[in-house]
Amino acid sequence: MTAAPAEPVWAEAVAALNAAPDVALACHLGPDGDALGSLLALALGLRSLGKNVVASWGSDPFRVPPQYAFLPGLDLLSPPAEFPAKPDLLVTFDTGSVDRLGSLAGVIDGAGAVIVVDHHPSNTAYGTVNVIDPDAAASVVLVDELLRRLQVPLTADIAACLYTGLTTDTGSFKYQATTPAVHAFAARLIATGIDHAAIAREVWDTNRFAYVKLLGVLLDRATLEAERGLVWSWSTQADFATYGVGMEDIEGAIDMLRTTVEAEVAVILKETPEGTYAVSMRAKGTTDVGAICVALGGGGHRYAAGFTSDADLATTMDRLRAALDAR
Ligand code: 5GP
Ligand code: MN
Repeated sequence: MTAAPAEPVWAEAVAALNAAPDVALACHLGPDGDALGSLLALALGLRSLGKNVVASWGSDPFRVPPQYAFLPGLDLLSPPAEFPAKPDLLVTFDTGSVDRLGSLAGVIDGAGAVIVVDHHPSNTAYGTVNVIDPDAAASVVLVDELLRRLQVPLTADIAACLYTGLTTDTGSFKYQATTPAVHAFAARLIATGIDHAAIAREVWDTNRFAYVKLLGVLLDRATLEAERGLVWSWSTQADFATYGVGMEDIEGAIDMLRTTVEAEVAVILKETPEGTYAVSMRAKGTTDVGAICVALGGGGHRYAAGFTSDADLATTMDRLRAALDAR
């Protein structure tokens, strides 16, 4: 576990950003609200300081998940093919390890300096400057502090990005990480005049009918293994094609599955276009799914984590059960 950023770390990050006329920004592939909110908030902030910014992530196809299409600053995004291979300064957000940058992973070696802004306990500290706080509720908490130190005024547009990250990673202010400081941060963001109710509706309460139908398929397939406190389901590339729903659009399906009272751990396996499985795990109670996912080659937090599996569905589930039974 990395300790919270020390004063010299902040100073180094601020000095590097102040000195750079051009800054490249990247978040993890298949971005969630925290990754996108962090990326766009700093991109907007740096633009207001007169910097040239390029912002992207390494997913193919490259598209903004529809629940985040309302975010300010989307005009600052470019597809990964247009991302510089050797930027003088690269900043990554919410990305615990280099492989999570997807097709942009190689830029780490090409970049002059790399500032890592993250809150994953599993972060491998792959930057030249590591702004990492595993106790932060979201990466946007660290971005907010960075913007304050860069003396960027908190505009409503920046606040909307930060609020989106905060509500995403706290599960709408429900998870353990929702401290008094999180509420104080939210209050400061809402005070800028953002429409927080509209943001919550976009992020949590808006789905296409095709998504609702696909959710029905996933829930119908769900299996409860009560003896090990596990509930799980899966989706295939064929499902995504049939319903016209993107892989990253079903982020919320696991939140429905995890309401199962008989299960402490919920799992969804999503088949990727490459034929691997992107596995999402959620826990309540004492199971540390972050540790389990690290052991299975992935990463994440105590209550929310994931890994990618090259094995087929049955083999992947066998490995996962073995890891759970070793608890
Ligand atoms: P989600 O299940 O929402 O995709 O991810 C939950 C958490 O686990 C996030 O913090 C995410 O960064 C992490 N995570 C998900 N998949 C992977 C993976 O394949 N590798 C790593 N290292 N972390 C992952
Ligand atoms: Mn996050």
